Amino acid sequence: MRYDVVVVGSGIAGPIVARNVAKEGYSVLLIDKKPAIGAPKQCAEGINIKVFEKYDIPYDRRFINREIYGAKLYSPSGYELEIRYKDVSGVILERKVFDKMLAFYAARAGADVLARTEALDVIRENGAIKGIKAKHEGELLEIYADVIVAADGVESTIARKAGINTYAPPHEFDSAYEYEMLIEGFDPDMIHLWFGNEIAPRGYVWVFPKDEDRANVGIGINSDNPRTAKYYLDKWLEENKVPAKKLLEINVGVVPVGGFVKELAKDNVVVVGDAARQVNPIHGGGMAEAMEAGTIASKWIVKALEEENLELLKNYTREWWEKDGKRLERVLKIRKAVEKLTDEDLDVFIQVLSGADAEKIAGGDYLEVIKALLKHPKVLMSKRRMALLKELL
Ligand SMILES: Cc1cc2nc3c(=O)[nH]c(=O)nc-3n(C[C@H](O)[C@H](O)[C@H](O)COP(=O)(O)OP(=O)(O)OC[C@H]3O[C@@H](n4cnc5c(N)ncnc54)[C@H](O)[C@@H]3O)c2cc1C
Repeated sequence: MRYDVVVVGSGIAGPIVARNVAKEGYSVLLIDKKPAIGAPKQCAEGINIKVFEKYDIPYDRRFINREIYGAKLYSPSGYELEIRYKDVSGVILERKVFDKMLAFYAARAGADVLARTEALDVIRENGAIKGIKAKHEGELLEIYADVIVAADGVESTIARKAGINTYAPPHEFDSAYEYEMLIEGFDPDMIHLWFGNEIAPRGYVWVFPKDEDRANVGIGINSDNPRTAKYYLDKWLEENKVPAKKLLEINVGVVPVGGFVKELAKDNVVVVGDAARQVNPIHGGGMAEAMEAGTIASKWIVKALEEENLELLKNYTREWWEKDGKRLERVLKIRKAVEKLTDEDLDVFIQVLSGADAEKIAGGDYLEVIKALLKHPKVLMSKRRMALLKELL
């Protein structure tokens, strides 16, 4: 088999690359090891509404379960911070449908798509990578391609086999555990997030509503924690008297929350999405980042093929670091500061921050917020809080 481009992994990043490159007339093969692309999901399915227009994705009710109007944040002692918009700000997807439709859009743009096809290794000839070895329905395939895209998620093997350094220490990963379940008593127009060192060390508990009385209820914690994410989630459900007997799905996963891959393209191999740890380290969302990286990567793949100069792929690394990498490094700095907050600090910050402040912080645009906080009496009273905030300036 021979293609211009082979894309390994049909989550979010992979099909965006496959669609964009196929649209320009190049031959593309998109493979995924899952028998049904999209299932099982490992996601809370929340995404900002802006992505549909930005990445040219139809706003299709088949994969939009619910429209969301903001977020509610809860501190350890129960203080609440509400960020509510007049208009829809985000949606909760049905990822099983969404991922499959993204692959379908790639197919419709001209890409070939093969489910149940696992990439096993790269093909090397005289030291150069010429393609990948894969297994489709038990049959071994040799797929030759000019460009290989590793979009194979957090456990990515293809980039590593191609010699790209994708190592990050265990501390840069979160463990996530989630029930899709029947749940009542929470405003279904908002996402809900609970913070606290006893509730979710380093992370948070989330309720992302689907329908009026169904939601993804999950947790993310630091993966080097001696206790499991399941332990903390079950404890939260019990303490909040949420009955846990109507569990429709159990989703377990690992979220890369730092240690972004430095070299995103090497020779004719590029790495995108979770495989490159292109995830927002403060909230663990990676779908929008995967779409952005996929868009930048596909632009340079097309240019490299057009000009028959694979050196141009290196521009993907440069452009991503300029556009997204720098911003995400700032967000990582905040996550490291947030890790040091006590429950009392979390109470104070949730009391004094406004919705607009919280939004700026999560996006990495935090300097004005920090400056304002430094003048707040509840911050001025604590030398430690002052020192923590000053670290971020
Ligand atoms: C519990 C949990 C909740 C989350 N909630 C959110 C959220 O609400 N919002 C958000 O934006 N992000 C969320 N994320 C993160 C988000 O799911 C990822 O950032 C996003 O899916 C990354 O997309 P991707 O295409 O890089 O990788 P993936 O979506 O992981 O896709 C990788 C694909 O590669 C395939 N694959 C892997 N190895 C091979 C191989 N050798 N051969 C062939 N195929 C292979 C896999 O089957 C998979 O389909 C969450 C993550 C977890 C774990």
